[in-house]
Amino acid sequence: MNKVYLKRKITPRVVNGHPWIFNNEVEKVEGVDVLGGEIVEVLTHDKKFVGKGYINPKSQILVRLLTRNKSDEINEQYFYSAIKKCWEYRQQIGYKENCRLVFGEADSLPQLIIDKFNDYFVIQTLALGMDKWKPAIADALNKIFSPKGIYERNDVPVRELEGLPQQKGFLSAPFDTNIIINENGFQFHVDIENGQKTGYFLDQQDNRKAIQHIVKGADVLGAFTYTGTFEIHAAKYGAKSVLGLDISANAVEQANKNAVLNNVQDICRFETANAFDVLKQWSKEGKQYDVVMLDPPAFTKSRETIQKAITGYKEINLRGMKLVKPGGFLVTSSCTNLVNEELFLQIIDMAAKDARRKLRQVIFQKQSGDHPIIRGLDNTHYLKFLIVQVQ
Ligand code: SAH
Repeated sequence: MNKVYLKRKITPRVVNGHPWIFNNEVEKVEGVDVLGGEIVEVLTHDKKFVGKGYINPKSQILVRLLTRNKSDEINEQYFYSAIKKCWEYRQQIGYKENCRLVFGEADSLPQLIIDKFNDYFVIQTLALGMDKWKPAIADALNKIFSPKGIYERNDVPVRELEGLPQQKGFLSAPFDTNIIINENGFQFHVDIENGQKTGYFLDQQDNRKAIQHIVKGADVLGAFTYTGTFEIHAAKYGAKSVLGLDISANAVEQANKNAVLNNVQDICRFETANAFDVLKQWSKEGKQYDVVMLDPPAFTKSRETIQKAITGYKEINLRGMKLVKPGGFLVTSSCTNLVNEELFLQIIDMAAKDARRKLRQVIFQKQSGDHPIIRGLDNTHYLKFLIVQVQ
């Protein structure tokens, strides 16, 4: 096996268990024709074993570690056991039908995402070294679950940094990729082939339940609704009226279908709109709602443009707060790890100050437990979910 030697001074990140080894942390790579994607052994400068992982000389992240256990052999069986363990953990913490089965680095399977939608599985292999194991991963899923279908959603730009093409398609016999899932007792259409990301945002599944009590009898406005999951929860939990907005006509069509599926089409409707424009206009017009819910996209993917995200979050939260009746509630999220918890709360405070409103925190939590948070792995701390009473 080819060997990668780290520089004398190992970064605390690697010592503390972070699985990424950057190019500039490596003293030398020993071996013949080190090809992208193969398994290598990582050692300290004085030849102490650090771990085993996959290498990609084309990527800035030269190695991503799979294990720190010397006796582990990385082969088909390894992936089978690792995925089985991921399922056991999800079951242990209470997930049954739908969950993120594998959450990449947080499950020591770097750059592998698997979402389980009951009998259907959607996978993403976002690095070359993981992509190579796709057949083994599909095999493991077949053995563990006997699924009705497996689909690859590798139409993700980040793959190009790894020299991989963007692609999507079946990893099982073809099946109807429009499926229906159950969540919290309600039903949702999921378009596995053409939906955003893997088709559905499972990371908010426990947060959706958290709106149960505050929406009773309420007039609710939801923005950035995608397929209307929060809004349909609101309607089912007893809201008087619900309006959901999304910029994507396709998402709005799906959301309206979901309203019909849950028989709430009379109180819950969806419209295509740019939330920035509409929220601004309506707050100027003095419109008022009992509950306003916001679940915007990341607004930025890099630290360089973080200010853009801050401005975006502040703007929509400011507008959102102004639309809430005194004593009503704002339900607001942020899904990028670049805006950490502290910064997110600061942005909310700035918005409240500008809106001249006082906030009372009801709930502040993270993504669902099937997307584990690992100390020291920044990328795993990404979703913030806040409910405040706006006084
Ligand atoms: N709440 C959803 C997920 C929302 S994802 C759920 O739980 O499933 C973010 C959504 O914001 C996407 O559907 C995207 O189409 C939408 N979006 C992005 N920019 C927007 C804008 N300016 N106005 C309205 N919607 C927008």
